[in-house]
Amino acid sequence: MSQADAAQILKTHALRRSLTERREVDLSPKSSMLMIKPVGAACNLRCHYCYYLPVMGIYDGNAQRMREETLEATLAGYLPESNKTVTLSWQGGEPTLAGLDWFKRMIELVDKHRRPDQRVVHCLQTNGTLLDDEWCAFLRQHEFLIGISLDGLASDHNHYRVTTDGSGSYAQVMRGLELLRKHGVEHNILMVLNNKNVVHPKEVWRELMRIEARWVQFIPAVEWLSPDDAERVNRHDGDWHAAPADLGDWKGWHTASFSPTPEQYGRFLCEVFDLWFEKHRYEVSVRFFDSVLNTLVMGRASECIYSHSCAGQVTIEHDGTVFGCDHYVQPEWRLGHVHGGAARTVPLTINSSVPEQERESAPIGGRWMSGLDRARATEFADRKLDLGEPCASCDWFQLCHGGCPKHRPARGELPGPTVLCDGYRTFYPHAMPRLQWIANFLKQGQMPPEQVPAELLPSTKKTAPRKQRKKRK
Ligand code: SF4
Ligand code: SF4
Repeated sequence: MSQADAAQILKTHALRRSLTERREVDLSPKSSMLMIKPVGAACNLRCHYCYYLPVMGIYDGNAQRMREETLEATLAGYLPESNKTVTLSWQGGEPTLAGLDWFKRMIELVDKHRRPDQRVVHCLQTNGTLLDDEWCAFLRQHEFLIGISLDGLASDHNHYRVTTDGSGSYAQVMRGLELLRKHGVEHNILMVLNNKNVVHPKEVWRELMRIEARWVQFIPAVEWLSPDDAERVNRHDGDWHAAPADLGDWKGWHTASFSPTPEQYGRFLCEVFDLWFEKHRYEVSVRFFDSVLNTLVMGRASECIYSHSCAGQVTIEHDGTVFGCDHYVQPEWRLGHVHGGAARTVPLTINSSVPEQERESAPIGGRWMSGLDRARATEFADRKLDLGEPCASCDWFQLCHGGCPKHRPARGELPGPTVLCDGYRTFYPHAMPRLQWIANFLKQGQMPPEQVPAELLPSTKKTAPRKQRKKRK
């Protein structure tokens, strides 16, 4: 069977959206996905584990909102050179802080600069707390795909995801979620896995099903404290302190106290997988499981974490500085600037990296993609390949590729696989027979039957998935 046939099957499969339409990009000028941060790391919440906290020093404290000329330079330099279908992923901080008028102008600028035959898909990751009817009507009109950040049970969510006065944000997020549903806006749930919610996967899954989540992704909150940081206990609301020593000590680097352990992560994935496979496998998309299926059927993962390199996650900061990935918004990983190449030469803060007059005078429509620091971009992409043992001889390497460099010791500064390795090595053998069973049908152009061979089931009472529920109106 050809790849095109396989792709067609996946398109007709209930898992199709996350298997085929998300984040399959590269770093070439033809790249089809771009992440843009309208307000940088600015946010109206103060989540304790926010991965921007350690790098806040590189933002210079000025009002963080992308200027119209920077937005236009971004779009004018990108759209004409990109694929027929382009995904623009709007991220923060909290991107809705830019305001609805900013997004309306963005739509006008996209229409101005896209090719007539070009389709632009908008994704927006938000905490949902600032949404109202007007926002949701706009998101529906322009067919945005929304990712809502919700950490499962209310008690878990409120533990870390708090407002500026320290109170839990769960009720506000759920209000936003209900508004999205009321307006028929497509959405998925992004859940940050931490030391609180990772320990009760069954309750988490039940809660996700209770709120009728249909697209779900789990992001493990692996953050690092450097040897200097580790001595500063109680930094950032008390949660950025080193995890107990038995979780690891890499030359004085530690994972943060809120990070899940590999054992917790592996157990969580296995238990959620069992529940998903038993009852929800054809009606709920879990991004990690989809990514494994994508590799088994198509030969490539749908997530960068499980791909062979870090290419394809180009990120534009609010001031127009270009980075290889939002997780490495650091001066040393600057690749260029949408107004020209100067950004790569000036360190320290983001906003001060390009002189004011240079930003003002920069031409709109400059081909900034081809002006990026290609050597540095390649270095960034390929550092993921820098793996020795145990990955080199691991049975699961083709599925895992050593995980995300940020999850490697000292954010990838020290050798070794992802600290979640034991979790993956627990999950893969547990789930693989069943995932392979699904993949085999898809490869042959067939939908998997509802009935599962008894030998694949951990318990004999488990049989067919539930029938597809009616779609919400
Ligand atoms: S660093 Fe991690 S999140 Fe960023 S591109 Fe690489 S794998 Fe993806
Ligand atoms: S499971 Fe562990 S050893 Fe195997 S490829 Fe992934 S990180 Fe490397």
